[in-house]
Amino acid sequence: MGGVGRSMNAADATRARGTMSRRSKGIVDRLSVLLFASSWVAAFADVAPRLLADPLRITTLLAALPALVAGYLVADFLAGSVHWLADRFFDPATPILGPMLVAPFREHHVDSMSIGRHDFFEVSGNNALVSIPVVLALFALPPATAFGSVFLALFGLSLTSALVATNQFHGWAHAVDPPRLVRRLHRLGLILTPERHASHHTSAHDRAYCVTSGWLNPLLDRLHFFERLERAIEQSPPRRRRMT
Ligand SMILES: [Zn+2]
Ligand SMILES: [Zn+2]
Repeated sequence: MGGVGRSMNAADATRARGTMSRRSKGIVDRLSVLLFASSWVAAFADVAPRLLADPLRITTLLAALPALVAGYLVADFLAGSVHWLADRFFDPATPILGPMLVAPFREHHVDSMSIGRHDFFEVSGNNALVSIPVVLALFALPPATAFGSVFLALFGLSLTSALVATNQFHGWAHAVDPPRLVRRLHRLGLILTPERHASHHTSAHDRAYCVTSGWLNPLLDRLHFFERLERAIEQSPPRRRRMT
């Protein structure tokens, strides 16, 4: 593995993940998902009636689809960026980020089927935790009386739900026998498909980082986006480098 990070073997991954007891992590993951789900539902319940108010119906219709698609695309980009950072920088022994972020991705490279052995709470807990403040920020939006407010509310709801679903989508892309609904979503190309994700594992884990829908992978890979960014970071003066 290139970049600033280093590769790890299965023993490293297990050791790094073991720094937080399985039981404690299970509790934190479940609490994070439950808090995220309840705040997401509350935010939706707060926004929905105003979105459907008479004077707004046209605005809502105009804003709905682009906002939902934009949120879904940005989730693909953010999740891809975090995946790239975890694969190429830091170390499984890095405090906090190591066991929470780096070790799971490195473990996944060593044993790609391991993601299917973790339940929804375990694979989605971290993303739920970081998405909670974003959902809470939606309550601070001004009343949805303008196109911008409507757009932002729908964008935020789409973004956060896609982020929380990302690792589950990633897991389903590796599943040998996914549920029928998932197979249909794969056929429609609406979530990460095994084909769209395969090149991440058949290469040196240096492309196809986006694992929500994977829609951005062809564009970002063609532009060598993460490769160029990585080179720019590595060539920057040490005092300005933020990751070592
Ligand atoms: Zn994978
Ligand atoms: Zn990876």
